[in-house]
Amino acid sequence: MNTAAPPSVGPGLHEVAPGIHRLNVPVPFRSLRQVNLWLLEDGDGFTMIDCGWGDAETRDLLEAAWQDRLGGRPVSRLIVTHFHPDHAGNCAFICERWNLVPQMTQLEWMAANLALRSLYTDDFELRARFYGSNGLSPEMLERYRTETVLYDTGVRLPQSYERLRPGTRTEIGGRSWLVMTGQGHSPDLAMLYCEADDILIAGDQILPKITTNVSVWPWEPLADPLGDYLRSLDRLEAALTPETFVLPSHREPFRNARARIAELKHHHAERLDRVLELLGRDAVPAADLLDSLFNRALDGHQINFAMGEALAHLNRLVFEGRVSRHVDDDGLVRFSAK
Ligand SMILES: [Zn+2]
Repeated sequence: MNTAAPPSVGPGLHEVAPGIHRLNVPVPFRSLRQVNLWLLEDGDGFTMIDCGWGDAETRDLLEAAWQDRLGGRPVSRLIVTHFHPDHAGNCAFICERWNLVPQMTQLEWMAANLALRSLYTDDFELRARFYGSNGLSPEMLERYRTETVLYDTGVRLPQSYERLRPGTRTEIGGRSWLVMTGQGHSPDLAMLYCEADDILIAGDQILPKITTNVSVWPWEPLADPLGDYLRSLDRLEAALTPETFVLPSHREPFRNARARIAELKHHHAERLDRVLELLGRDAVPAADLLDSLFNRALDGHQINFAMGEALAHLNRLVFEGRVSRHVDDDGLVRFSAK
């Protein structure tokens, strides 16, 4: 991930396609800075997609947008693309405010609930052991411990949800949307594709300028999220057209979906080659690659993602048979080129 320029639109709603409004709200993560929420005109009300980080500032922006532009019409439906805190944060607030049950895929709902109970994202002991076993220094571990933004500081969920099923269709404001899901970034991220108008609401699955985080997490050390992610790009490439208008969760909407997918595939192929080159024959832990792969100082929150991404590329290379993974007697995990 790099830090591209912040988006051009300020607060308030901006119509990006007939009946589809973008609301740009801030997030407390330095590499992202903002997230796009979408309000789709839908009969007598609006369907809202994603919730923003759960703090008072974001809730004020939501209230202001609702008051300013909904013209007294309600938010009648809420869809949450995935469990990450900048997407699910104000879920309970929006549901209480408009008397709604959120629609999510089953895995995202479960991941959100596990994360809130600290079993999925913020178990420091589990993470510290995992990053330690992959060679992260005590200084970096300490930075991670003190600077990371905890999930439960920005997310509240309602009691129940309604399941969004991939492959089904949903009508919003006279458009028929196909529910698609993508893996690798989060367990089963929901996207909506309207073939008739060639518009994709993409969540974080494809972003312009920055690359989607694809990480190995402590609870599944042998996972292949990059393989999952690349397969989801293949499916998107087959479904979309060269002109598809993509509404991403971060940065600006863009048109050349297939070209962006080709760039992302190329980026990861190059990254895999670079990791292989860095490894050589000497077995090294994942943490030893961070300085070469991320040529900037990482804050505590970014250490998570950097370790996760390095391991995602290493594990993919193991799956491809190009790298070996060894566990030392003391539990240190090392990788070497074959
Ligand atoms: Zn995300």
